[in-house]
Amino acid sequence: MSRTYDLHSHSTISDGTLTPSELVARAAERGVDVLALTDHDSIDGVQEASAAAANAGVELIPGVEVSVTWSGATVHIVGLNVDAENIPLRQGLAAMAEKRVERARRIAAKISRHTGDEAVWQRITQEAGTEAVTRTHFARDLIEQGVVKDFHHAFKKWLGRKGKAYVAGQWAELEQAVAWIRDAGGVAVIAHPARYNFTRSKLLRLIEEFKAAGGSGLEVVSSAHTPNERGNLAAIARQTGLLVSCGSDFHAPGNPRVELGRDLALPANCEPVWSQWAEPQSAAIGAGK
Ligand code: AMP
Ligand code: MN
Ligand code: MN
Ligand code: MN
Repeated sequence: MSRTYDLHSHSTISDGTLTPSELVARAAERGVDVLALTDHDSIDGVQEASAAAANAGVELIPGVEVSVTWSGATVHIVGLNVDAENIPLRQGLAAMAEKRVERARRIAAKISRHTGDEAVWQRITQEAGTEAVTRTHFARDLIEQGVVKDFHHAFKKWLGRKGKAYVAGQWAELEQAVAWIRDAGGVAVIAHPARYNFTRSKLLRLIEEFKAAGGSGLEVVSSAHTPNERGNLAAIARQTGLLVSCGSDFHAPGNPRVELGRDLALPANCEPVWSQWAEPQSAAIGAGK
């Protein structure tokens, strides 16, 4: 019987609403056999998730979703099956956390200036800690404070490129992100490629540079992709010799279209990214204890 892989998900360590343990429990309920925890720019949830997974009969793949600034755009690179103890990776992600806090302070200041609400930063740090603070945290706060009615408006009016509180992230370089992942024994994957709205030639240029840096996977299957996009991306993966990955990009319960393990079948004639890992790093962590 084929196993269900979900190789892209978030916990409270970044902008998910479930703790790593709760996330693993939900994945088990939904029939996920292999789950990757891929928080934004952090691997701090991996240890808790691995322990929970061992009890739930789920195979946990230690992962991370690294934010990259490439050609003026933000691109996300998922690292799968990384060694979560790897020092250069941890140091790289610690630097990313600092960048996130700096940007978040500036976003908070802009919101406060526009709304007159001086407590924005205080609430955000309470809610997000100082780990991976993201725009999602600000979106939730804007909704809770009654400034906007939903996520769509939070990003459109405030946090997105044309929003009143937009601050561009200055994230890692593509080569740097891929090197952190590779050096930690992981496989680098371009996350949700259809979400960037690149032209085909720009996407091919990204893939070329990504491969030159040592990247090897394309997230063809994502909740963010239509069936048509999946088909087109599968063809690009075949043409460029990239392995194919699949992940829900789950953040929170309540959206039936973005659910752990849901609708993640790979298109035909694709080589899955997991053909690259002989043994999951999570097994090594468990064995060391
Ligand atoms: P950041 O990395 O801090 O820029 O935050 C990016 C995160 O915001 C993404 O990972 C998504 O979870 C979320 N996000 C971005 N755009 C939207 C949107 N239009 N609606 C809802 N969530 C969004
Ligand atoms: Mn997110
Ligand atoms: Mn992403
Ligand atoms: Mn994600």
